[in-house]
Amino acid sequence: MSQFSKEISLAVDLVRKASEITEWFKKKGVETYLKKDRSPATVADFSSQIYILHQLMEEFPKDQVIAEESETGLIDDHSAKQINECFTQLDIANISDLKNLLNYRGQKSSRQWTIDPIDGTKGFMKGLKYAIGIGLMVNSDTKISVISVPEYKKNGLTIFVAEQGQGAKASYGGKDFEAIHVSDHNNLKKARLCQSLHYDLPWVTQFADKLGIEKRIKMDSMAKFCLVADGSYDLYIKPIMGFRAFTWDYAPGDLLVREAGGRVTDLDEERLTFEEEKCILKAPGIITSNGALHDEVAVFIRDKFFSI
Ligand SMILES: [Mg+2]
Repeated sequence: MSQFSKEISLAVDLVRKASEITEWFKKKGVETYLKKDRSPATVADFSSQIYILHQLMEEFPKDQVIAEESETGLIDDHSAKQINECFTQLDIANISDLKNLLNYRGQKSSRQWTIDPIDGTKGFMKGLKYAIGIGLMVNSDTKISVISVPEYKKNGLTIFVAEQGQGAKASYGGKDFEAIHVSDHNNLKKARLCQSLHYDLPWVTQFADKLGIEKRIKMDSMAKFCLVADGSYDLYIKPIMGFRAFTWDYAPGDLLVREAGGRVTDLDEERLTFEEEKCILKAPGIITSNGALHDEVAVFIRDKFFSI
C-alpha cells in the first residue's frame, strides 16, 4: 500500500490541470519576461505555479513549498488580466491574490514540495518540448515525483509517476498507468543519447563523436529523464555550469529514473543530494543512464574530459 497515495493523486491532478493552463497560453501566445538571473519566464510559468501552489495550500497547508518562480514584479495589470481570463475559461475558481500565491511557500517543514511550473521555458516559447514537474521530499529525501509532458513523442499528454521503493509508471495520452522500466542496452557505441537543447556544452557532443554514438536527440526539459526511464533512450548527459542546479529541475527526474531501474549521478558517480532549493553536485555534470552503461560512461568522460 502506498504511503503517499493522497499526495500522488493530488500531484497527478495538478500536473494535468497545469498542462491545460500552459497549453491554453501556448495557443494564445505568451509574453516573455527576463528574470533577474537573465533566464526567461512567461505568464504561463506564473499561471501554472499560482494554480499549483493554491491547491497545495488548500490540501497540505502545513507543508513547505520550494518553487521556481518568485518575481511578482513581473505580474502587471496586463498579465494579471490574462491569467484571470485563462482561469475563467478553464473553470478554475477562487484564485484571486495572484502575487501572494506566486510567493506562497507554506510553513517550514520536513515535508517539502518542489515545483517547476514549466521546465524548459525556452522550448515552451518555441513550441517545442517542455514539462511540468512536482516532487515531494521528506527530510531532503525525494519520496514521490510526478511529471507531465504535454507532447511526449506522439502520445499527447503523458504523465510519469514514481514513488520511492514502489517503482515508476506512466500514463500515455490519457491511457491507464503502466509500469515503466529503463532499457537493458549495454553496448555503449549503440547507445541512444539525450542532450540538452539550450544548455549543452561541447564536451557532450565530443563524447558522443568519440564513441560513434549515432542516435542522439536534443531537447529541453526533464522530459529527457522520462525518455531514459521508459527505455526510449539509454543515456542523458547534462553539463552543469558553475555547479548551478536547482532542486525543482532535478529531484523529480532523479527519482523517476532510479525507480525505473536506472542511475542518476554526478560525473564522479555520486548521487545527487538536495538541500532546500539547491541540487548539490561535486562534479559539474549529471549522468543519467539505464544503469548498465553507467560506469563505462562515467569513466570515459572523466578520463577524456576531466582528467588533470
Ligand atoms: Mg521552470
